[in-house]
Amino acid sequence: MELFMGKKTVENYTIVIGCGRLGVTLANTLSDKGGNVTIIDKNNDAFRKLSPSFGGLSLTGDATDLDVLQEAQISKASVVVAVTDNDNINIMAAQIARELFKIQRVIARLYDPDRECVYREFGIDTICPAVLSAREINKLLSENSIAKDSPLREKQ
Ligand code: AMP
Repeated sequence: MELFMGKKTVENYTIVIGCGRLGVTLANTLSDKGGNVTIIDKNNDAFRKLSPSFGGLSLTGDATDLDVLQEAQISKASVVVAVTDNDNINIMAAQIARELFKIQRVIARLYDPDRECVYREFGIDTICPAVLSAREINKLLSENSIAKDSPLREKQ
């Protein structure tokens, strides 16, 4: 990793908060693509899910703790992604990244779709699994209905 250089923002440096199912997949993918990645989780065991080829750093601690974020050199990050299993933690970490450390790109996972629009106002991009899943299911359903009506469909 080319992390610890003097310049302010390190190009392609992403901090992933939460090493759960989503966080680990994201961190492995970014690392495989050659990005600089630090992944934070409060539970040390969570890092066992990282792939053996993961080339980033892992940091144990609460992601709303300023000391932990500073240890991760958050001020040098170009992107912060908050994907713990707790909306409040994701929101708090995202707001710290955006407001205190002026990180350009901040993305938070929110389970509660009703809170999505609020955080857009703060310049925080949000992803909501329920909304994304509903969109994909609707897409599959409409593809199925097209397939059903298609003249190419075999007559039964
Ligand atoms: P998952 O439910 O698979 O998406 O996993 C969520 C991950 O977020 C777990 O590994 C938790 O240990 C982690 N997590 C939850 N709260 C915090 C927190 N405050 N700081 C860092 N990681 C957290």
